[in-house]
Amino acid sequence: MKRVGAHVSTAGGVQNAPVNARAIGAKAFALFTKNQRQWKAKPLEKKNIEAFKQKCEDAGYLPRHILPHDGYLINLGHPEKEGIDKSRKAFVEEMQRCEQLGLGMLNFHPGSHLRKISETECIKRIAESINRALDRTSGVTAVIENTAGQGSNMGFTFEHLAGIIDAVEDKSRVGVCLDTCHSFTAGYDLKTKKSFKNVMDTFDRVVGFGYLKGMHLNDSKKDLGSRVDRHESIGKGLLGLELFGFIMNDRRFEEIPMILETPDSDIWAEEIRLLYSLEE
Ligand SMILES: [Zn+2]
Ligand SMILES: [Zn+2]
Repeated sequence: MKRVGAHVSTAGGVQNAPVNARAIGAKAFALFTKNQRQWKAKPLEKKNIEAFKQKCEDAGYLPRHILPHDGYLINLGHPEKEGIDKSRKAFVEEMQRCEQLGLGMLNFHPGSHLRKISETECIKRIAESINRALDRTSGVTAVIENTAGQGSNMGFTFEHLAGIIDAVEDKSRVGVCLDTCHSFTAGYDLKTKKSFKNVMDTFDRVVGFGYLKGMHLNDSKKDLGSRVDRHESIGKGLLGLELFGFIMNDRRFEEIPMILETPDSDIWAEEIRLLYSLEE
């Protein structure tokens, strides 16, 4: 089964995420377990944790269908001591929140070199950050998202992802999430059947489908190779609808969370229905 969902709101508490997901007909969901724009967070309360687990169970969401996303301030490849220390600490805290919620994955953007260190050095730092976080936690897989390569963001080539995985010690707890908008604006053409096949073959050869733990389904406001990250609603951007049909009919994407991060949350239910209608 395909597991299409969206990055839903946790306003009022984490336990509202599965409720919000169910209300739009999602078969998977993403969430922030804390305010994504702040370093600090109040510890999760026991009653919220219990309610979260209960609501997930009621709606039939298993941990492998839930893909939490870390906060925006964390940079696991930060070139400077203060920045990297703060990021590593915050990342461990995010992993621990996932553990508390009984979740098995944490999705994050790899990091940025801020033009102060080389790409190779930045990749090393990111992998070291992951190793440290995996040492300090258990049961949660670090899921690296590919990026559009905006600014000095790393992770916009499959080789970057492979380079990070290569330097992670516990390969059973590292994975990747492919964002369709990021892939496209990073220069991977997904628009035609032939180019989609080529990109996925390359992904399989360089990274390996075994590491694919989730997808972000977004159309793009910006064009192929623009290295700019602007999501658009499904079928309304420069990627177009066809690509999503390829994904919905490809067995390699079964049972992993496929998450909408499209700009208009009012039409998520409609977008989910649209995606399922593409199944042949
Ligand atoms: Zn994404
Ligand atoms: Zn994005």
